[in-house]
Amino acid sequence: MPRSAVVSGWASARRTSAYGLIAGLCALVSPTLAPAQTGAPAPTGGANAGPRPQVRALACASNCAAPAAVRPGSLLRIRGRALALVDEVVFQGAVGAADDVSVKPRRARRSFVDARVPRTAATGPVVVIGSNSAESAPSAMALTVEPAPAPIPAGTGLGVDVEIQGDKVFYGAERKAQVSFVVRDSQPVSVFVEVVRATDGVAIARWETGVVAPGTPQTATWDGKAGGRVQRDGRYQFRIIAKSQSGAVASSAQAAPQPAAAEDPPGSFLFLRHKFPIRGAHNFGEGAAAFGGGRNHKGQDVFAKCGTPLVAARAGVVKFKQYHSAAGHYIVVDGDDEGTDYAYMHMREASLVSKGDHVYTGQPIGFVGDTGRAHGCHLHFEMWKAPGWYSGGSAFDPLPQLKSWDAGS
Ligand SMILES: [Zn+2]
Repeated sequence: MPRSAVVSGWASARRTSAYGLIAGLCALVSPTLAPAQTGAPAPTGGANAGPRPQVRALACASNCAAPAAVRPGSLLRIRGRALALVDEVVFQGAVGAADDVSVKPRRARRSFVDARVPRTAATGPVVVIGSNSAESAPSAMALTVEPAPAPIPAGTGLGVDVEIQGDKVFYGAERKAQVSFVVRDSQPVSVFVEVVRATDGVAIARWETGVVAPGTPQTATWDGKAGGRVQRDGRYQFRIIAKSQSGAVASSAQAAPQPAAAEDPPGSFLFLRHKFPIRGAHNFGEGAAAFGGGRNHKGQDVFAKCGTPLVAARAGVVKFKQYHSAAGHYIVVDGDDEGTDYAYMHMREASLVSKGDHVYTGQPIGFVGDTGRAHGCHLHFEMWKAPGWYSGGSAFDPLPQLKSWDAGS
């Protein structure tokens, strides 16, 4: 549908059913919600954004190059403060983002984080990022990354080593699913990449990267689609297949050592189509705060402290950014590669993004607030089927999806 039609449809919906819209937001407080007005459900877990993580020291914990240096495959221990929520470690390498590599930590505790040094990491500072999007300053000292052990000498055979860059990947996020790999052989080899679905072992995508020099780190990325369709949530695995000039074939799946029981196979990652939008402690409202709520409530209210960061649950285009007396500051995002619209209401102030912007999954869009007619700081969240929000679509209960995203991200 052309944008102008959507806009005029919205305008007329607004004129003719302003009250219907208000009833669909959080304005009409039914008796069942009234008791909660004096004490909206308190978010569990304390401070929302939490303190900013700090990196104080870097040391190699195992598989080290030297006491003060790491190499690909080493376990790096990062000491500091407020590290319990860290879910991403970024090896910055040289100045600029071109050689940045990030991984999910193996372990995160309040005072330390352990992370495996990825194959393509380069010497440079280290940054940690929390699940609440709080990011540390770069480490004061650069981490020295020694080269990986020399490739196996010529003649000992073809092989492939892989290392996933980030264990969890969101569709439409800034960082795509990416694997780094090194092939071992005496001569350049042809390389194919496959993305394998873990549930049934089917290769859902396959492409050729061309001829690759042995011993040189390479990367391959996947955008989450196969046959033009966004793939289901779940675990997937990159399989790198190398073919030597003599016709020998090796794949990362067969070459990999058996992973420890608790670890996922090499090159595997979790793919999710949505990220939970509230990055801090929260409670799902019940009764009148639920979808329907006995008052034609068009969304789900999720309570969290005012100021808790909000991110886009799904990549898409911002189709509305407005202030409404009932909805407060809100935006509506038209999800990429689907007909679904996502509405985020009662934000503390106008959204960080603008109408017409394309947002990525996980992009900060604003903060939980109580603007408009809201009782207690909360996100009023709506999902609408195609053709979308007040333009011919219909709202549906987003709670099952919210809970699933919350569990996964
Ligand atoms: Zn609401």
